[in-house]
Amino acid sequence: HDATLLDEVKKRLRDVPDFPKPGILFKDVTPVLADPHLFHRVVDAMAAPFRGQRIDRVVAVESRGFLFGAPIALTLHAGFSPARKPGKLPWRTRTERYALEYGEDALQLHEDAVARGDRVLIVDDLLATGGTATATQRLVTALGAEVVGYSFLISLDFLPGRERLGRDKVCSLLSY
Ligand code: AMP
Repeated sequence: HDATLLDEVKKRLRDVPDFPKPGILFKDVTPVLADPHLFHRVVDAMAAPFRGQRIDRVVAVESRGFLFGAPIALTLHAGFSPARKPGKLPWRTRTERYALEYGEDALQLHEDAVARGDRVLIVDDLLATGGTATATQRLVTALGAEVVGYSFLISLDFLPGRERLGRDKVCSLLSY
């Protein structure tokens, strides 16, 4: 990766201790989004490993995943589908439960969010335990599509997320 880009992103990410619960060091990406040049370069870098591969659909995770997933889908000429918290999607859904670094939750996809045989890229801002991304992967594969890879801005490599998803499929700009 472009070393100056990584340095700049590192400087701009804001570490917020004890949010949303004691003991969590929250990585706040809003200062990166607020800088138009940096945001653009981050989106390009998160898309870069998947350029030149066929990606039919980007599936991104509520809610910070949407902020990166939608522009990545545009740059890869792929469609975009949101994976959302229960009760948010209006039409027929599939549901998967998962464990978070802080709590437990579930995710839903519309039944037509991906088509059988689609090649899918899963996007989120941060990979921690991998519970969220694993639930998203299960939703995608249950609908008959293939997860080609995962793109994160940040991965916390002292947690087992990368191993759970398969090392070769996971791309992240920054690792801690
Ligand atoms: P996990 O399912 O444990 O991999 O957690 C990843 C999800 O939780 C992502 O959607 C992240 O946005 C969020 N998340 C977990 N830990 C953090 C953290 N330290 N800072 C910011 N977001 C986090």
